[in-house]
Parts: sequence; C-alpha cells; structure tokens
Amino acid sequence: MALSPGLEIAIRVGGSATVFAAMALWEWFAPRRRLIAGRTPRWPGNLGILAIDIAAVRLLVPTTAVGVALVAAEQGWGLFRVLGVPFWAALVAGVIALDLAIYLQHVVFHHVPVLWRLHRMHHADIDIDVTTGVRFHPIEILLSLAIKIAALAALGVPAIAVLIFEVLLNATSMFNHSNVALPPWLDAIARWIVVTPQMHQVHHSIEREETDSNFGFNLPWWDRLFGTYRAAPRAGEQGIVIGLPIFRDVAELRITRLLTQPFRDDDSARA
Ligand SMILES: [Zn+2]
Ligand SMILES: [Zn+2]
Repeated sequence: MALSPGLEIAIRVGGSATVFAAMALWEWFAPRRRLIAGRTPRWPGNLGILAIDIAAVRLLVPTTAVGVALVAAEQGWGLFRVLGVPFWAALVAGVIALDLAIYLQHVVFHHVPVLWRLHRMHHADIDIDVTTGVRFHPIEILLSLAIKIAALAALGVPAIAVLIFEVLLNATSMFNHSNVALPPWLDAIARWIVVTPQMHQVHHSIEREETDSNFGFNLPWWDRLFGTYRAAPRAGEQGIVIGLPIFRDVAELRITRLLTQPFRDDDSARA
C-alpha cells in the first residue's frame, strides 16, 4: 500500500472539516429540534475536548492505528493473513469487523460501571448537535484506541481499511449527532445502511432503556442483530429529553467540568 503521510493527513483533516462544515450549516438552516442550551455555552467545551483528545493521542501514544496495521502487515500478523484471506476481502471484512468491535465496546462502556463513568460525559450533553459527535473523554479515547489497535492486529486488518474505517467513523459520528432530520422516507431507507440522526438521538434520551439502545455509530446492523435497536423515542421526536438525570446544570458544559465528570459523584448517578 502506497499512501504518503501528507495524503493521509489531507484525507483526514479535509474529510473531517468538510463534514463538520456541511453538518453545521445544515443544522443551522434546518434544525430538527430547538436546542435547550444552544451553541454558545456548549461549543467551547465540546470543541475544547476534541482539541484535548487530539493532543492526548499525539503526546501519549507513540504510534497510530494505521502505523500498527503497517507493522502487522510486515510481520505477517493476524487471522486474515494466517487464513490467506485475499486483500480485498480482508479490506471489506476489516472495516466491518472494526465496526462490530466498536459496537461491542460501546455496549461494554454502558454496562461496566467504571467505564460508564468515562462514557457518560458523552451522554451528559443536554443538546445533541454536530459537536456532540466529537465530545468524548480523553481517557475513553485512549482506551478506544488501544482496543482498536488490539482488534486490528489480531485480525490483520489492512492499513488502508483502518484509514477508511477511521475517516468513516469520524464522518458518521458527526452526521448522526447532528441536529438535522432526513425526510422520513429517506431516513427509513438510509437506516439500513448507516446510523441516521433520528436513530442515534434515541441513544441520547434521558430514559435509561433508550440510552441503552442504538449503540451503533456507523453500520446500523449490529443493533438489529443483537436486539438493541429502537426505532424511535417513546416521547416522540419533539418530546424526547436529551442528556442524563445528572450534570444538567449549564455549568457542567464547561471544559473543566467535562474533564472531571468521571471522578465526581451525584446522588442521581446510576454508576
Ligand atoms: Zn453511549
Ligand atoms: Zn452519541
């Protein structure tokens, strides 16, 4: 695989910036719901967390997922190589398998209390929009990277599949957190191929049964396969309350609060 570092960075940064700008414009002109807190108190924290996440990965992790995939290819590591799976099959299966790994990781992060404390910061946003899609605690980001690296090395996922997966996941996360609505007919078709905003909003409901549903970020099949799919929030698109029973004060939207949420308790915290 010949992919220069310059081209890889251009694909990542260009892709992210384009999807972010497109979704931000779409939700500005045609919002699905009226935001409770709005952008002003939320965006500095959500985008600040993104900057901290990028810095933490750069400073603390001496390699990248693509870098590990290249080493694994050189060394002949991974199930796909042991089984002699052809490159193109490994590429497609690799992207799908990484998506399944992220789905399973997401389910585990909801059900293991110490991991939920990290992940609930993503859920504590009291509105969802494009910036919620990048709002993850840095420790969760580092753990996710370690899990992804272990999975791709064990399977022998080609480096190009890792890049495709990372760019796709980044784009779909911004897309499905956006405060936009596909027309109902298009949403019904699209949610067989990709997790749509109307599908993922159910996952951000304050109702626990709804929080523990629609775990997919990218491919919507896993939720249907494992019985965690919910078509719509019980309270309806306009009645759904976004967020958690805790951390509902607007002060909790500040970056210092976001960073410390996993380490703070509240009577109504469920973990
Ligand atoms: Zn979640
Ligand atoms: Zn989410």
